[in-house]
Amino acid sequence: MATNARAQKDPEYAAVTVRVPLGDLTAAQFRDLAAIAEEFSEEREARTTIDQNLVLRFVPARHLASLHAALDAAGLSQPGAGSVSDVTSCPGAFSCRLAVTQSRGMARELGAVLKDTPAAGLHIKISGCPNGCGQHYVAGIGLQGSVRKVDGRAVPQYHLYLGGGFGNETASFGRLTAKLPARRVPEAIVRLIKIYDAERAPGEAPETFLGRLPPQRVTALLADLEQPQTYGEDDFIDLDEQKQFAVQLSEGECAS
Ligand code: SF4
Repeated sequence: MATNARAQKDPEYAAVTVRVPLGDLTAAQFRDLAAIAEEFSEEREARTTIDQNLVLRFVPARHLASLHAALDAAGLSQPGAGSVSDVTSCPGAFSCRLAVTQSRGMARELGAVLKDTPAAGLHIKISGCPNGCGQHYVAGIGLQGSVRKVDGRAVPQYHLYLGGGFGNETASFGRLTAKLPARRVPEAIVRLIKIYDAERAPGEAPETFLGRLPPQRVTALLADLEQPQTYGEDDFIDLDEQKQFAVQLSEGECAS
């Protein structure tokens, strides 16, 4: 009720967001969802959202508890829709031939690390390359897959964009603020969210706060992560991967 259901203009009805981590659904869950939409949404359909979730509209408020039970049985009752842990990611190296990094692995990791972090209204979006299918340019915190060389070896890294956002009428791009080895990104995000939680003005939108953070301050805050004194073996392995990171050039199309 706190995070996934919103009253509609007519308070007899609610719009319910079904969280779909990484946008992944099984065939069985699709069938369950079809039945659930038929039963609980008077619109009798589920709509996809820009952040990889689904919305059921025109759910009679008196049926919300039963809807929750049905979603729970289908493995789709995760709370926290729209929270900072509800990370959006493009397919990245999982299936896209243009990808540099395994953006889904990063999204999974951040979702786990930030599971209990409030940071209301702050969105994290990740793309595995500059094409930006994960819409990282317009997120409060945006990450773009990239690579750096250390002693001749490839290290997966992310460009960190801060202060992007979007509304009904406008969108604004975030500012490139740091380049971080992939394994150092979760700690960097935790540090930024601590500042955001502690220092934002009452009612201040996350993109406004992050957009006004002085770049020098972010650089100082993340300096040890951006330029580590030493690299461990895991720095050379991307998240969700087992083998050494290497950029593979191949022809193909974006998978989004
Ligand atoms: S082309 Fe699109 S889907 Fe593929 S890695 Fe780049 S941003 Fe992601």
